[in-house]
Amino acid sequence: MSHIFSRHCHATPPRAVGGEGCYLIDDSGKRYLDGSGGAAVSCLGHGDADVTAAIEAQLEQLAFAHTGFFTSEPAEKLADLLIEHAPGDLDRVYLVSGGSEATEAAIKLARQYWVEKGEPGRGRLIARKQSYHGNTIGALSAGGNEWRRQQFGPLLLDVSHIDPCYEYRYRRDDESAEEYGARAAQALEDELLRVGPDTVMAFMAEPVVGATAGALAPAPGYFKRIREICDKYGILLILDEVMCGMGRTGSLFACEQDGIAPDILCIAKGLGAGYQPIGAMLCTAEIYQTLADGSGFFQHGHTYLGHPAAAAAGHAVVSAILNRGLIARVKEQGDKLVTRLEDRFGQHPHVGDIRGRGLFRGIELVADRDTKAPFDPARKLGAALKKAAFNEGLICYPMSGTIDGKTGDHILLAPPFIIEDAQLDELVDKLDRAITATI
Ligand code: PMP
Repeated sequence: MSHIFSRHCHATPPRAVGGEGCYLIDDSGKRYLDGSGGAAVSCLGHGDADVTAAIEAQLEQLAFAHTGFFTSEPAEKLADLLIEHAPGDLDRVYLVSGGSEATEAAIKLARQYWVEKGEPGRGRLIARKQSYHGNTIGALSAGGNEWRRQQFGPLLLDVSHIDPCYEYRYRRDDESAEEYGARAAQALEDELLRVGPDTVMAFMAEPVVGATAGALAPAPGYFKRIREICDKYGILLILDEVMCGMGRTGSLFACEQDGIAPDILCIAKGLGAGYQPIGAMLCTAEIYQTLADGSGFFQHGHTYLGHPAAAAAGHAVVSAILNRGLIARVKEQGDKLVTRLEDRFGQHPHVGDIRGRGLFRGIELVADRDTKAPFDPARKLGAALKKAAFNEGLICYPMSGTIDGKTGDHILLAPPFIIEDAQLDELVDKLDRAITATI
C-alpha cells in the first residue's frame, strides 16, 4: 500500500495514468470524460503540446530563480499579457502557486493597503455566505461554507457574511430580476452601516459562484450596485475569479460581463490549466503605489512566487485561450450544453434549476420541484452522484450543502473548452444515467 495521504481517508481513488483531450485514463485503461475539468481547471483539455513545449523550453533554460533576488522573462511576459486584457485599472500582477495563495494574498494586500494609508482601523472583511475562497485560514475565513469551516472555529478571522445573490432561492415572485439584484446588493450597504464603514477594508465575492453553489451567476445589475456601494464608502472590491475566470464563462474575466472591474482580482485554476500550479493576484496602480510610496514592501511571500516554469505554462495557456478563438468557442459550446441540459432535465422532477454562463454550468437538485425543498443532507447525494458518474466514466463535481436550511445539492459542470458536440451528448447521457442510478 502506498504512503500517500489521501483526503478521502477510506476510499483509495483509481490511479490516473494518462490524459487525452477531454478524457482522463486510469491504470485499468478506463476512460473518463472530464466533465468538470477536475474542479474547473483543465480548460485546454489534457495533453496540449504547445503548453508542454513551453514548459519544457523554460525548464531547459531556467527552472527556478527566487523572486527575492530575480524576476524572470516568463513572469514578466505573463504579467504583461494579463494586464493587456484585464478590465478597469488593474495594473500589477503578483504570481503565486494557486487559488488559495491568490485570495490569501488579496486579503493581506487589502489590509496592508489600509495600514499604509494610515487607516489601521479598517480590519474587517465582508464576504458572502455561499462562497468559497480557498483553504488557508484567511481564505477559509472569507468563505461562507459551513461544511468547510466547521473544524477551524477559533482560528478563523472575524468576517461578516451577507446573503448571496441567489435568484432561484431568494427572489420573490413580485420582484423582477433587476429588483432582486438591487435588493441583494443592498445587504452590503446594510452590513457596512451596521459595523461602521470605516472599520471595513474590503468586500470579497466570486462573480459566478463555483464550488459552493454550482455556477451561480449574479442577477442583472447586482455587481454594478455592489461597485457603487464600495465606491460610496471607499472600500476595496476583491473579486475571486479563481474558478470562473480565464474564459470559463465566455469572457476572459467573468466580471467583464457584469460591466465592472475590481480593485483586486484573483485567478488560478484555468490560468495553468492543470499543466503547472499557478495563480495570480492583480491589483490597481493605486494600491501598488500606496505600498511603493509607503513601506516599499508587500509583507507577504512564498518560495515559489513567480515560478518561471509555471509562468511559462500560464503564458502559453492564456495565449492559447486568446489565439485559438476559445472564448468564442466557450460561448458556442456553452449554449449547446445548456440547451442539452434543458432538453434532458428541464422537466425532471428533481431538477430545480439549470444555471451558469459559458462552459460553467450548474444543476440544482431538489426533493420537490414545487416547494424547492432540498434532499435530506443525510442522504449525502453529492458523494453518491460523484460515485455513480465515475462508474459511468464521467467526472463531474457534485456538492451537498445546506445554507440557512435552504440550499441542497448541485452538480457543477466545467468541461474543457475544446469539448466537441458528440462529447456534450456523451456528458449529458452519462449524467442522466448517474442521476437515475442515484435518486
Ligand atoms: N477560490 C475559489 C472561487 C475556488 O473555487 C477555489 C478552489 N476551488 C479557491 C479559491 C482555492 O483555490 P486552490 O484550491 O487552488 O487553492
